[in-house]
Amino acid sequence: MAQHEIRQNKISREWVIYSTGRGKRPHDFIKQEEFHLASEPDKKCPFCPGNEEILGPILYQLPGENQYTWAARCVPNKYPILDSSSSSKRIHEGIYLKTQGYGEHELIIESPFHNKDLADFSQQEMEIIIECYHSRTLTLFEHPQNQMVQIFRNRGPKAGASLIHPHSQIIASSIAPHYMRYREEIAQSYYDDHGCCIFCELLEYEIKAEQRMVYQNKHFTTLVPYAAEVPYEMWIIPHHHDASFAALASDHKPYLAESISQSIKRLYACYEKPNYNMVIHSCMRYKQDEPQLHWYIQIMPRLSTPAGFEIGSRIPINSHIPEEDALELRQKF
Ligand SMILES: [Zn+2]
Ligand SMILES: [Zn+2]
Repeated sequence: MAQHEIRQNKISREWVIYSTGRGKRPHDFIKQEEFHLASEPDKKCPFCPGNEEILGPILYQLPGENQYTWAARCVPNKYPILDSSSSSKRIHEGIYLKTQGYGEHELIIESPFHNKDLADFSQQEMEIIIECYHSRTLTLFEHPQNQMVQIFRNRGPKAGASLIHPHSQIIASSIAPHYMRYREEIAQSYYDDHGCCIFCELLEYEIKAEQRMVYQNKHFTTLVPYAAEVPYEMWIIPHHHDASFAALASDHKPYLAESISQSIKRLYACYEKPNYNMVIHSCMRYKQDEPQLHWYIQIMPRLSTPAGFEIGSRIPINSHIPEEDALELRQKF
């Protein structure tokens, strides 16, 4: 097998990425106790200031106003799950389908400070991160092969993070995941039956109902979803209807920064040193102008591990009640 390959599960139509170089990437989350110590550059951390020789090329950078010349920067992932030099052409192998593993995998180093997390960032620092997310999304969509651009953040070993230094990741791919297709079909069918966007309607209902609300500002609402899969799951939903995160207006960015910061701070107030994933759910490139889709952010704390029943049935078991979590998150901060 080549270093990168994407195979299709013939039974579920889901794709599986094979990336054999990933096992060599460095890990420092074993030092969990350092989670929130005062920040000093770490000589071994590839993302810390002064270690640029082990970092590699810088794709994008925003200037800093502290003791460092940069506030956030974007670099290619040294251990990418996909390979930008591969082809996206699909190949038959017997009864199966595969591709070479084309895609781009970038890292956004969110701060020069080694031990910070989103909960520690100022409004200005959060706005810089949003600017990086948005700018790289627009750049990656310039490449016609990139159909999907996904931004995500893993915090802590239970969430799949290997390094402490605050960072997010961006993956661009030519593959349309079966999961996204399925959700697009639900939104399409809802639009056909009701004549409106499923998220706009959900948002209107939840704002009136109040019991699952966590935080709201002029352009975004954070809530615990009605059928939250894990304790303290939160969705940040833009009030402005757009299918793609790429359409985010400049004057809405400070409000998004504030919403993320408020949501994560509340999570930290409810649970000590939470491990979590944050994902921006945005549409495929070819769906960007369709009226039934609405981008949003999902925050998934990793407080427990899915077990046999969840794997077999795909039915999550949540030990918390969504309305109680929302009340706690709402009142904590
Ligand atoms: Zn570092
Ligand atoms: Zn909508």
